[in-house]
Amino acid sequence: MKDVDVAIVGAGVAGLTAAMVAGGHGCKVAVLDQIGVGGQIGNIERIRNWPGFPDGIGGHELGPLLHQQAEAAGAEVMLDTVQAIKRADRHFIVHGMAATLRARAVIIAAGSALRPLGIPGETEFRGKGVSHCASCDGGLFAGRDVCVIGGGDSALDETLVLAEHAARVTLLHRGAQLDAQQTLRERIAACAKVEVVPNALVEEILGDDTVTGVRLRAGGTAQVRRTAGVFIYVGLEPNTAFLRGLLALDVCGHIKTDANMRTSVEGIFAAGDIRKSSVALIAACAGDGATAAVSAFRYLDGGRIVAAPTP
Ligand code: NAP
Repeated sequence: MKDVDVAIVGAGVAGLTAAMVAGGHGCKVAVLDQIGVGGQIGNIERIRNWPGFPDGIGGHELGPLLHQQAEAAGAEVMLDTVQAIKRADRHFIVHGMAATLRARAVIIAAGSALRPLGIPGETEFRGKGVSHCASCDGGLFAGRDVCVIGGGDSALDETLVLAEHAARVTLLHRGAQLDAQQTLRERIAACAKVEVVPNALVEEILGDDTVTGVRLRAGGTAQVRRTAGVFIYVGLEPNTAFLRGLLALDVCGHIKTDANMRTSVEGIFAAGDIRKSSVALIAACAGDGATAAVSAFRYLDGGRIVAAPTP
């Protein structure tokens, strides 16, 4: 068993920022992540709202840079899946599949996973035309027609990535208006390759060996659209299954925190889009990580956190 001051679950933007800041405060830090560094940003072609990069930065570039900064601050990043966290006297035991840590404080920054749509064909054709990653799979659809399902920032971001490869991208949104940021909506409107279909409810993904189309209802009318690929971005689900029973979650499974990133369990903090009320922007996740690290340091240093006002 390894002893650390702060164990951080998740090596995305929130977790690696927390590691950098906690390490900078002199804490012995270990970060555990099941897929490696960067988290969700590894799948983002170009991040355009990360401060200091007016032309954007690739997610595959930012992840390793954050990793480098966390390690330079003394943090150790380990590839491991955390299965449970248990209290033991004044410590927490963090049970990974490979390693066990004894930590004086814990920061949970395990992020979110893309929500499945739950329609026929989605699982059957995964990897055969159904994808959740335009940056990874967009090139496979060069010169072909693809569909994106969703109407938030993720769907529009990924539509723009796909438009660089595909002949035509159809954005199928179940609402009347897109839910995304204005800059993304403007870029979509200016992209000649993209058709936006509002009020479109996709009911089934069709295919034989691979995807050939989608069956949907648009404005109440049933129709089949031919497509070679279906990219699904219908929201996020927090990765909190391993925390049930340990700390307070909201009905959707997000961790409840105060403004100092304290959870309902003293000594456990949370940061990033895993927590309730997160705006889920990458810059905000970094801010959460920094706040959680300072709070953890103050907790270890003798509980100097000033109570946050109740919202
Ligand atoms: P989101 O904001 O929750 O949007 C989900 C979209 O999917 C909504 O348009 C929703 O439509 C639709 N949807 C949900 N369930 C559906 C279903 N069963 N069938 C069809 N459509 C469905 O999720 P997100 O776009 O992944 O974004 C998550 C968070 O990350 C947000 O806070 C976002 O700002 C952030 N983010 C930011 C950036 C960026 O800054 N560039 C990029 C990506 C994500 P309804 O409105 O009808 O529910």
